[in-house]
Amino acid sequence: MNDNNFVGNSNQMVDFLGNEWSFDCLGCAIVRKEVQIPGGIIYEGKNAILGTDPEIPIPGFLIINAKRHISSFSQLNKEERDEIGNLIMYAEKALKELKIVDEITLIQEERSKHLHIWIFPNYKWMTEKFGKGISYLREISEYAKRNCSEENVQKVLDVIKKIKEYFAEHDIDE
Ligand SMILES: [Zn+2]
Repeated sequence: MNDNNFVGNSNQMVDFLGNEWSFDCLGCAIVRKEVQIPGGIIYEGKNAILGTDPEIPIPGFLIINAKRHISSFSQLNKEERDEIGNLIMYAEKALKELKIVDEITLIQEERSKHLHIWIFPNYKWMTEKFGKGISYLREISEYAKRNCSEENVQKVLDVIKKIKEYFAEHDIDE
């Protein structure tokens, strides 16, 4: 995977369902619904969108995408940071309470031109195969892309459905 794709700065992408997309900014294209995330939007608020990672088929690998084209937490206004903070909390709660994964890694890279936050699930197979820690996430992602079977895709879509139901049952403002 080239670095621009990995960080979200590329102008094109093939999602894990095989759909090809092109755009000026992936984050903005998701906000404008010009790119449809596999499995659909899990949660949409006034300031942010939650969905699965479109390129990497790992169940419960979630992305929070800011609606505004900004690149840093330091640019968020109060309303945005309230919503994004709540969204991070409820996304993590959903993954744990639905017993999808016990532990996650949270990542936000300012070198990406559009603010998005990775909620990366830490599965046992990842630790066994690659080791633990941030330095392995790229290898794990590439491995998941290479091993994108129909079964894996179905698992990802099933998890998205469960998390959607979780969000439908919870008010993230509480
Ligand atoms: Zn953008």
